[in-house]
Amino acid sequence: MKHKKETLFGGARTTRRAILKAGAAAGALGAAGVASAHTASAAGSVTETGRSYDAIVIGGGFAGVSAARELKAKGKRTLILEARDRIGGRAWSSTFSGLPIEFGATWIHPSQTRVWNEVQRLGIATVDDPNPDFTVFATESGGYAKQDLAFLDQQDAILRKFVEGAETYMPNAYDPFSREDLLVDLDKLTLGDRARQLRLSTLETNWVSATTGAYGGGFERGSLTQLARWWALCGYNTETFHGINVTRPVGGMKTVVSKMLAESGVTVLYNTPVTKVTDTGSRVQVTAGGLVYDAAAVVVAVPVNTWNSINFSSGLPAEFSRLSTQSVGVPTAKKVFIQVQGDIGRPLVNGKSGALLDLVLTHADKSSQGTVLIAFSVSPNLDVTSVSQVQGAVSEVLPGTKVLSVKGQDWGKDPYAKGGWTFMRPGQLLGSLRVVRQPYGRLVFAGSDIATGWAGYVDGAIETGVRAGGLAAGLTVRS
Ligand SMILES: Cc1cc2nc3c(=O)[nH]c(=O)nc-3n(C[C@H](O)[C@H](O)[C@H](O)COP(=O)(O)OP(=O)(O)OC[C@H]3O[C@@H](n4cnc5c(N)ncnc54)[C@H](O)[C@@H]3O)c2cc1C
Repeated sequence: MKHKKETLFGGARTTRRAILKAGAAAGALGAAGVASAHTASAAGSVTETGRSYDAIVIGGGFAGVSAARELKAKGKRTLILEARDRIGGRAWSSTFSGLPIEFGATWIHPSQTRVWNEVQRLGIATVDDPNPDFTVFATESGGYAKQDLAFLDQQDAILRKFVEGAETYMPNAYDPFSREDLLVDLDKLTLGDRARQLRLSTLETNWVSATTGAYGGGFERGSLTQLARWWALCGYNTETFHGINVTRPVGGMKTVVSKMLAESGVTVLYNTPVTKVTDTGSRVQVTAGGLVYDAAAVVVAVPVNTWNSINFSSGLPAEFSRLSTQSVGVPTAKKVFIQVQGDIGRPLVNGKSGALLDLVLTHADKSSQGTVLIAFSVSPNLDVTSVSQVQGAVSEVLPGTKVLSVKGQDWGKDPYAKGGWTFMRPGQLLGSLRVVRQPYGRLVFAGSDIATGWAGYVDGAIETGVRAGGLAAGLTVRS
């Protein structure tokens, strides 16, 4: 176990060999087109008299772009209405300290076949993040201590206990309902319930907090079944569970989604938040930016947490509003890039339950001005834009480290996300997921939050987008 590394969505500790075997294609890069309000980005133009379409897609994240591409490929006149001045949604590429960074989605893995295949097909090269050379864990006395990387094995042993039995109750990674009979009680459990069921000590709970509790937005928020779904998708092994977060597309997620949009040829209207959707039975009217657009079918590809911000005036089953109120995206999810003074090595910090920082890892250790760290937090008590607050949090886990500057994103405060990565709460899998995946009248919902496969990842967004695009195309055909 020489080269280990960890990141939020599993913590990559896979060997470089495994990654290299999967192969990474070299290729060209692209850039996201950004247009001002009500201008068309990719192809075509929208005029005051041309607001009638076969299909409208609300939201230009990976799900929306995938749906629109599918619709266009089936010959449907399609328009994307996007609230922001960019596509990508919770995938947002930027720069910090002269380095490319991602505020949201970052890593991809061959087991995520949809996104991996897009990247290969589009000729986008990939690059691996640096491996850690030491780790930090909570101690019995309540503080933190530097540990050898071999210490990660202890964390893995507890993680395996957490999801013991998943091969039986979650036997099909892409069909979480295949043994619904066995999930009736399990889907009621939080991660905290599971820790108590296993009689984990406080120290053991702290050791797996960064790879379980933090994923769920806290031990008492996230459900055991969501963790088991990810475990199943990773082939029930720690190597893949950690390994899914090593490899990034060169040029960032912006390059991937931009190329997908460009090849679709679909028009995007930016700065156009949708406020109202009315299904009249024969058409759907979509209100955005004071104008009413109209289509035979609509794909709603916005985060679940934002569904309640749109007035679905023709009504939806109660599960939609309930799920949105409860939250599916982790409402306290934050990510911050931290430039620190000097060469501090390549840390992999596992924060304890309730800590200000859940996970800290190395983004770059050869930056011109020192080391750049990536940190994840689900604490409601950390302002990731404040150098002094981040300094306080860093000092707890890496004493003596001087923070020079920070750039962070609090996804819960983002009006068009209202949360970060997907992690369902108890009862949502069996209680709501199936219902919200069904087309309702002329509306079809999409998004990583409601994927049956890689929910919480770009791959899941593509999965639902392709599906929703196909379903919506069917709704545009006159009977
Ligand atoms: C911190 C963080 C780290 C992550 N890391 C990874 C990772 O390493 N790998 C990975 O695969 N995934 C990762 N994810 C998850 C990944 O980002 C998401 O699963 C994926 O991007 C979701 O895509 P989506 O299209 O379903 O939703 P979104 O990307 O949220 O897209 C929805 C779109 O709808 C738009 N919208 C919202 N409301 C309206 C409205 N009223 N009108 C019009 N448009 C609207 C939004 O602006 C947005 O563009 C991470 C997420 C976070 C937050």
